[in-house]
Amino acid sequence: MAKVEIYCPKCGWHPSEEDRWSCVPDCGNVWNTFSTRGVCLRCGKQWKFTQCLWCWEFSPHEDWYHYPEEESRADIKEEETEGAA
Ligand SMILES: [Zn+2]
Ligand SMILES: [Zn+2]
Repeated sequence: MAKVEIYCPKCGWHPSEEDRWSCVPDCGNVWNTFSTRGVCLRCGKQWKFTQCLWCWEFSPHEDWYHYPEEESRADIKEEETEGAA
């Protein structure tokens, strides 16, 4: 099975279990958004975008999940494109 890695797609920052996100301006709950795949534990809101606590950029929540196998396939595609051009 591919092991998923979670890090910011913009700066590469890895969140830890102790990091917390706030459900604002909704219910104000504070929790680790990666423990629930972006779902607020109190009000059930699905957060489509997650803010990096390091670079403060917002990225789609799914973009934080990196699967090594998928990324190596993407690399091959890029090389093929460069060769054709
Ligand atoms: Zn970042
Ligand atoms: Zn909430």
